[in-house]
Amino acid sequence: MFAVASRPEVVSLAGGMPNLAALPLEALSAEVADLVRREGQVALQYGSAQGVPALREQICEVMRLEGINADPGDVVVTVGSQMALDLVTRIFCDPGDVVLAEGPSYVGALGSFAAYQARVVHVGMDEHGLVPELLRDAVRTLAAQGITPKFLYTIPTFHNPAGVTLTLERRAEVLEICARYGIGVIEDNPYGLLGFSGRIYPALRSFDPGVIYLGSFSKTFASGLRVGWALVPPAVRDRLVLAAESATLCPPSFNQMLVSRYLEGHDWRSQVKTFTEAYRDRRDAMLSALETYLPDDCRWNVPDGGFYVWLTVPEGVDTKAMLPRAVTARVAYASGTGFYADGLGSRQLRLSYCYPTPERITEGVRRLGGVLEAELDV
Ligand code: PMP
Repeated sequence: MFAVASRPEVVSLAGGMPNLAALPLEALSAEVADLVRREGQVALQYGSAQGVPALREQICEVMRLEGINADPGDVVVTVGSQMALDLVTRIFCDPGDVVLAEGPSYVGALGSFAAYQARVVHVGMDEHGLVPELLRDAVRTLAAQGITPKFLYTIPTFHNPAGVTLTLERRAEVLEICARYGIGVIEDNPYGLLGFSGRIYPALRSFDPGVIYLGSFSKTFASGLRVGWALVPPAVRDRLVLAAESATLCPPSFNQMLVSRYLEGHDWRSQVKTFTEAYRDRRDAMLSALETYLPDDCRWNVPDGGFYVWLTVPEGVDTKAMLPRAVTARVAYASGTGFYADGLGSRQLRLSYCYPTPERITEGVRRLGGVLEAELDV
């Protein structure tokens, strides 16, 4: 399906690929050449399993934007935040352990949980993110069975796939519930700096140093460099570094040093602003196309940042079964079922507006509208 959906005539609203067209490639190639020339002996060598110290300091500066006050010694650089997810799950979960996650949740995290045979219990969301009452209910129901979840995995800001953001009041409530019941929190925040209003939400980690925070340069710089990180409490750090070492020996020195130079020598914040402006235009194109072309009884969120619109289709439509017909009509999306561990999501789908141009997005949504009309006519 991926191969078919990648054909040029298909408008893919399926993937979450960042749009890197605006990156300053000339300046970056000069940086790459200079890195090899001046620091090649270090950049092309093995390095520390925890990551390049200068970069870990800069990562703390980046996190400061979200109100986080961190020590570079508690940052572990990983091969994308995906690797951090894998390592954290490996450290905490034995087969059969329960983890809490929003419903829907990030497909890559669900993949890591499944790989270590953890059982996911989903907690519902609304337009303001995770619903604290539902979290409390889930925790109490599990407690009645003698189960304490290993952690809550949450994407509080510009959620993937739901597109929503947890309000400040709820941030406090969620932390309070988890503290009361002794449940760890993993905050996954690759989109936090990609808000359309320019507002930056304080991270959960900014309120509670016990939170494990996962970050990434994939969306703010270059996903292909595979540089992400975990900020962990000191008690977890050594285990995480050991796990990272056994997985990869060390993250790529060259890529880390390139990211470090980029942060040091380029106006990366205005680059993020440029990215975000492009994403806002694309979001607008998608929202107006949805209004124009989708049948009645479809519902979707209005994302205030990030990459995604989460769409609920009319009763009777199965988004997984519909996908081959959509691809035949030259539009692709991600069916909602991939974002649940428990088989839900067949009336939902995720649309990504990050990669195609506004014109292609409009055309893709027009095609999707036609496919939905045809499903409803059957
Ligand atoms: N978490 C979330 C919520 C994501 O959307 C993604 C990428 N799609 C990742 C983690 C992984 O990002 P990376 O490994 O590129 O840092």
